[in-house]
Amino acid sequence: MEIVLLGTGSPIPDPNRAGPATLLKVGVVEHVLVDAGRGCIMRMAAAGSIPGSLSGVLVTHLHSDHVTDLSDVISTHWIMSQEPTPLRIFGPVGIAEFIDHTMAALAPDIGYRMAHHEDLTWEPIIEVVELEPGDRFEVGTSSVSVHRTAHEPAEPAIGYRLEHGHYVVALAGDTIPCDGVDEMCVDADAYVQTVIRSDLVQQIPNQRFNDILDHHSSVIDAAQTAARNSVGRLVLTHMVPAPQPEQYPEWVALAAEHFDGEIIIGDDLTVIDLVERD
Ligand SMILES: [Zn+2]
Ligand SMILES: [Zn+2]
Repeated sequence: MEIVLLGTGSPIPDPNRAGPATLLKVGVVEHVLVDAGRGCIMRMAAAGSIPGSLSGVLVTHLHSDHVTDLSDVISTHWIMSQEPTPLRIFGPVGIAEFIDHTMAALAPDIGYRMAHHEDLTWEPIIEVVELEPGDRFEVGTSSVSVHRTAHEPAEPAIGYRLEHGHYVVALAGDTIPCDGVDEMCVDADAYVQTVIRSDLVQQIPNQRFNDILDHHSSVIDAAQTAARNSVGRLVLTHMVPAPQPEQYPEWVALAAEHFDGEIIIGDDLTVIDLVERD
């Protein structure tokens, strides 16, 4: 299984970082998208993935940076389909209403294309599933459990523990450390966590920017969560402030003070190839 960091950015526009989105390549045509930030379809194309390959889309919470390109995923999945094909979208309570509004916004486009293409006789088919912490479901050939995360006031927020064969990946989304994140991380091969550098953020004299300290994991928080739960690899994404590549070693060193496993930080399209641990 491969994890591809499609977008490692945040709400702050960055020409080199798409918005938060992670792709799990379980098989050649069995892909799972986790969040759909700015530019995720472009990054999927670069990663050799198209919406038709998606077994499911897992949404962690409804902050705009994590869902802004769901409409592109829905439209492109539909336009590229050769026969009626459902797109499965999972998320916290509220995702169904979000999709309803998105479909309303797409209604003119859907009408134009169905009027224009004689063979396109169906509207987008979306299967939306609202989840609660404790739920379990199957996506493709993987089994997924749902865990409560803490990202107030963006609630409910959830994270996912995806298991396929011997592989376990924990995808936490935006959250501070909490019991739910610990549950999802136990013995995971990889733990993907959105992070901020609280030491740098608090130096910036801007209250709105400082507010993000309340509800995100710092690099140290993520490293401590990784260590406490014996994960194999800690994967940092959604970095704020976005580091330049020459600063990556400093970020990794900060995490390494608390976690002695592998620490991965990277650019968009960084690929983590999971191999079984001893
Ligand atoms: Zn958020
Ligand atoms: Zn975010």
